[in-house]
Amino acid sequence: MSNSPFLSVCTADIIRNAAAALKAGHLVAFPTETVYGLGADARNPIAVKRIYEVKGRPSDHPLIVHISSINQLGNWATEIPDYAIELGRNFWPGPMTLILKRKDLAGDFITGGQDTVALRVPSDPIALALIKEFEKISNSAIAAPSANRFGQVSPTSSSDVYEELGEYLSDSDIVLNGGNSIIGIESTIIDCTGKQPRILRPGFITLEQLEARLDSPIVEQLVSTTLRFSGAFEKHYAPKCKIILSDQIWKGAGFLALKEIATPGDMIRLASPESNEEFARILYSTFREADRKRLDLLVVRPPKSEGIGIAIIERLSKASLGR
Ligand code: AMP
Ligand code: MG
Repeated sequence: MSNSPFLSVCTADIIRNAAAALKAGHLVAFPTETVYGLGADARNPIAVKRIYEVKGRPSDHPLIVHISSINQLGNWATEIPDYAIELGRNFWPGPMTLILKRKDLAGDFITGGQDTVALRVPSDPIALALIKEFEKISNSAIAAPSANRFGQVSPTSSSDVYEELGEYLSDSDIVLNGGNSIIGIESTIIDCTGKQPRILRPGFITLEQLEARLDSPIVEQLVSTTLRFSGAFEKHYAPKCKIILSDQIWKGAGFLALKEIATPGDMIRLASPESNEEFARILYSTFREADRKRLDLLVVRPPKSEGIGIAIIERLSKASLGR
């Protein structure tokens, strides 16, 4: 895919061009450490509307505003509790999204009409360079969801983005190429509108890590919430093939498990991650691999439900509800 007109490697010139494209109202898909995002100028309602069109996503489903540092937080959010500052200081740049009361700058077209806004400082160097460059020329930030069609598997490489969205993007849009996402699953989302932080979506940053860094170590992990957040929809993160979590043998099915678990007879081993971190990193590319191999079924032995295993199991459960 590297000869696609949309794809580019990231020199300083390319970053400047991409920032200019955002300013002109075009879309830029960019790498982050979690998954690839589909970005638009967070202050441009027409550009943001195109994100929804390209994704085929319902317009009441909010986006994450990507900022370059915690110093930008006050432009977009208000009533910021001390613990949110503590979280930002400890985990940004990184795979953590904070939900805060919005300021007027965060329009309904970003928040899905809610009075809260989602904010994140990604750590991927290309993402950060792009956000900084765009802030410099626009006084704005980059609104972005994951760069996949609604309900599909999140992309972890630029060729995944092209595969997902190529036919929906225009010639003026850009897909930046930053290799494979090193974390591979979406950010930990934390609701910071109450007395204590609450995890709305588990991710790479775990409950234990959050509590270890907070002065008042009380973090709730929500299973369900009235807020609309990613994963609250049943069909999500799902490839075309059916995914089941099972320890039975399914002849001819794809198989994904930690390396220490041997492949049961007559199943097709797709990946053998050596740790839960690696499991997260290869999860979505393994889903895509199963589809490329035209498998009807992918059998997964989930990791233990602890640490990042919780986020992996959450994604697997959503994917197995899939089709
Ligand atoms: P995605 O990267 O595709 O998961 O999209 C960004 C996600 O951020 C959205 O799907 C929501 O889950 C989450 N998000 C954005 N704004 C809010 C908000 N105000 N409240 C709760 N979740 C939000
Ligand atoms: Mg998504």
